[in-house]
Amino acid sequence: MAGMVAIVGGGASGALVATHLAQQVNPPRLVVMEPSAELGLGIAYATHSPSHLLNVRAGNMSAFPDAPDHFLDWLRGEDDPSADAGVFAPRMVYGRYLRSLVAGSGAVHCQQAAVGLKVEADAASVVLADGESVRAERVVLALGHFPPVDLPRISAEALSAGLYHRDPWRDFLLPSDRDAPVVLIGTGLTSVDMVLRLREQGHRGPVTMVSRHGLLSLGHAACEPCARPVVLEGTMPSARAYLKAFRDAVRDGVPWRAAIDSLRATSNTLWARLPAGEKMRFRRRLFHYWSVARHRMAPSIAEQVARERRSGHLVVRRGHVRDLVISGGAGRLTIVTSRGTESLVASCVINCTGPVTDYRRVESPLLRTLFLEGYAVAGDMEATLATDAHGALEDASGACSRVLYAIGPMRAGTLFETTAIPEIRQQARDLALHLTGMCS
Ligand SMILES: Cc1cc2nc3c(=O)[nH]c(=O)nc-3n(C[C@H](O)[C@H](O)[C@H](O)COP(=O)(O)OP(=O)(O)OC[C@H]3O[C@@H](n4cnc5c(N)ncnc54)[C@H](O)[C@@H]3O)c2cc1C
Repeated sequence: MAGMVAIVGGGASGALVATHLAQQVNPPRLVVMEPSAELGLGIAYATHSPSHLLNVRAGNMSAFPDAPDHFLDWLRGEDDPSADAGVFAPRMVYGRYLRSLVAGSGAVHCQQAAVGLKVEADAASVVLADGESVRAERVVLALGHFPPVDLPRISAEALSAGLYHRDPWRDFLLPSDRDAPVVLIGTGLTSVDMVLRLREQGHRGPVTMVSRHGLLSLGHAACEPCARPVVLEGTMPSARAYLKAFRDAVRDGVPWRAAIDSLRATSNTLWARLPAGEKMRFRRRLFHYWSVARHRMAPSIAEQVARERRSGHLVVRRGHVRDLVISGGAGRLTIVTSRGTESLVASCVINCTGPVTDYRRVESPLLRTLFLEGYAVAGDMEATLATDAHGALEDASGACSRVLYAIGPMRAGTLFETTAIPEIRQQARDLALHLTGMCS
């Protein structure tokens, strides 16, 4: 392929697409625009906490769909000679793996944020934070995750006292008082990360997790995989029919973890077949159950969390956050539960509700340009971007771009499963083939 591919965002998605593009016959020149000093880390693999483990077994974390042992072999050679396919490696070790891959791709790291974009007939100019532009035949957007939506009604006093942290993935100071109460908003894997980080740093105080459903992520355990998906592609496209097929399989003896995992291969097709109203119904009624069963903790982490809960050091609550104020010299978070209103004392409140999905609410000049210029539209249920089967952006006229592509979490507006490495590596490989095939 002649010309240049500009990859905007150098996290896992950017690193994987660079790696796959570099492997093509006659690869393009590659530039990765990423303001951080290191490529390949993004928010998931930049952690310095050894207790932050992958939530996928090493045997399923290869960068290459056709070489499933690639990560495992690297892990054995570089970090843990005794590692087996079932191990849950530290995320920072996985970050080193991605760094080594992107370094081998020959991509040039342009250490700047992209702040704008001008699309021409068969190329685009990406505007950088310093005002310079880079022209490329194709642009792959790999901007990934953005901090959660802000909590409602946080008093100015609480904000200026540094009581509230909106971005759980950014390094911030945890309370110096090791016995101070901490409240985490959200009960998914991000809040579990926070508990681990607090304990790793010697924090002994009580931690409360609060979420609307009060459901904590579940743990991994060994189980025989299912021979076929428990919800077949021909199942009537409704949330209720999918749930029934799932329940029937579990009632017939399929372990629930195996039933969930069996859907990995078909969930994007099942999702695409659902009418808009059924997608909405799934999101409202079932998604929280799906999420805790699908995004599971490594077994050692699940055990630690269970111990914390038994000892009362970690409490999981169901409730809506109403406000956060300082009163009587202490932070007070008001939550509304089924039994009424309660006030939780907190020295630190961390928003772990997960990345914002509506990109139109994100403070990113580049995303703003995409929407304002009509280069992109939001996807299903206002999530991220609408894309076609290759990841090409759908524009405001409904046409699919031949220049702008998205990968990874940015495709959540169209795909159901698009944030984990097994999906991203496949997208990266397919996109590399598509771009080089299209442009050669
Ligand atoms: C905490 C956590 C743990 C996870 N654990 C696992 C796991 O164990 N196994 C698994 O399979 N998956 C896991 N995932 C999912 C997965 O690997 C992530 O979804 C992955 O990080 C996606 O990478 P990304 O590059 O798309 O996004 P990000 O990691 O968000 O990276 C995006 C990058 O784009 C850059 N960027 C943003 N805007 C611009 C701009 N305008 N210009 C230039 N650069 C820009 C950012 O600086 C950032 O580095 C985890 C996710 C998280 C959040």
